[in-house]
Amino acid sequence: MDILDSLRNIIGPDHVLTGSDTAGFATDWIGKYENTPLAVLRPASVDEVSRIMALANDTGTPVVPVSGHTGLAGGAHAPEGSVMLSLTRLNKIRQIKPDARLAIVDGGVVLESLHHAVAEHGLRFPMTFGAQGSCMIAGMLATNAGGSNVLKFGNTRALCIGIEAVLPDGRVLDLMSELHKDNSGYDLRNLLIGSEGTLAVITGAVLKLVPAPAARATALLALDTLTDALSVLNRLQKATGGAVEAFEYMPAHYMSAIHTHLEGLNPVFGTEPNMTILAEIASTAPKDALPGPDGSLPLDATFENILAEAIEAGQIQDAVIAQNDTQRSQMWTRREAAAEVCLSRNPLVNNDISLPLDQVEPFLTRMKAELIQLDPGAETLEVAHLGDGNIHYNVYPSTPALCDPVMELVEDVVRNLGGSFSAEHGIGVSKLQSMQRRKDPVALAVMHQIKQALDPKGIMNPGKVLPNCGEVIFRAGQL
Ligand SMILES: Cc1cc2nc3c(=O)[nH]c(=O)nc-3n(C[C@H](O)[C@H](O)[C@H](O)COP(=O)(O)OP(=O)(O)OC[C@H]3O[C@@H](n4cnc5c(N)ncnc54)[C@H](O)[C@@H]3O)c2cc1C
Repeated sequence: MDILDSLRNIIGPDHVLTGSDTAGFATDWIGKYENTPLAVLRPASVDEVSRIMALANDTGTPVVPVSGHTGLAGGAHAPEGSVMLSLTRLNKIRQIKPDARLAIVDGGVVLESLHHAVAEHGLRFPMTFGAQGSCMIAGMLATNAGGSNVLKFGNTRALCIGIEAVLPDGRVLDLMSELHKDNSGYDLRNLLIGSEGTLAVITGAVLKLVPAPAARATALLALDTLTDALSVLNRLQKATGGAVEAFEYMPAHYMSAIHTHLEGLNPVFGTEPNMTILAEIASTAPKDALPGPDGSLPLDATFENILAEAIEAGQIQDAVIAQNDTQRSQMWTRREAAAEVCLSRNPLVNNDISLPLDQVEPFLTRMKAELIQLDPGAETLEVAHLGDGNIHYNVYPSTPALCDPVMELVEDVVRNLGGSFSAEHGIGVSKLQSMQRRKDPVALAVMHQIKQALDPKGIMNPGKVLPNCGEVIFRAGQL
């Protein structure tokens, strides 16, 4: 019996997709990496995943886990001879525990579905970004996704207290703890989070929830400099007791690109400011949602007062506060269209970098000066989760031959300013060279040793995250 027949026996013939039935999995979201798997598998239970992995291990078949397929680093790229293991049918919310403020979910639950389900309990899973209608909890855990609310709630890792995963040999690792404290040995949950499918298939998680906000205030702010932007962020944090949930940076050329791209959305300010910040604060206190005698909400009034002070101090030129949900959603549309606007052009150097908050401005200044030396014809389009120092610094070099030199230049500047070449999208295949060049060699060697221990046959998502560094492995073997 060949492997496809064995797989059909495990999950049923309808769920072993081959040929044209795999069309929906043909490329990644950007359309950069083409997949040519032997089959796409759609198991419906942890037991089926376990039996698939045991078979793959016995036959030495590479397995590429895929969830929402929205990853931006090519992490779910499936080469010939591999099978893609899709989580689409492992999509149940197993339990919501309102009193413990936890959601226990299958890995294939779509982020937006979780938002809706927990909202019915007056709760919230506080992770949002442009792909939320498609990306799934397992993919978010595998990439340790970030998004717009990281400055308040942390990334996916900070919101996960339990995990369930199937190891390459088919054993089920059940760490579905509902405990906030559990110091019993090595932290395997956090090892799997961010491992991008190279160590195990994540099948379930226990996630932290927070109370749903009673009131939100959202504004677009017109500013001149990033120094002013940081002052405004700190002013807002101090005056609201840390209620800032999003602080997103959109420079003038990004806003122009967005307004050209999105029909029906016009510039907000009379003259396009140097930069627009999307700022959002929220409160769970019911008193902040009770309209005053003039009909205005206390949270809006608080926001207005703080912004007025910042205008008075010359830190903000102008501000527009959303008056209703439609206006709020239009503000967010401008930010969440970033991926489709920035990543649809070629040649592209798609950087997802992280910097200390006070080094974002020096980074942009230095890049402007140095990029023009390297490639006078290069253009850039950047947008940032400024509140956590994460910049999507997209460069369009004048020729594809300059993609690598541009990437190296960015890496150099980032390293000199104490940053990281990878903030939230992961390494996948697109950042392998950066990983080889910039990651501490001992850290790389330890990662290889972990990979070897958990996946000695190398069947879990081969060719992702870990560059070839045999020499380093040898050195680490002598540690
Ligand atoms: C419009 C848009 C906006 C985005 N904005 C953000 C953003 O603000 N912040 C951010 O962090 N990311 C963002 N992303 C990137 C992407 O959405 C995230 O990386 C997301 O976490 C990927 O989830 P997914 O379910 O689509 O995973 P996939 O793309 O399916 O997989 C991603 C990686 O995880 C691995 N994987 C998938 N499922 C499993 C599993 N069950 N077990 C083990 N490994 C698995 C895959 O092999 C791959 O390496 C954006 C993407 C788009 C298209």
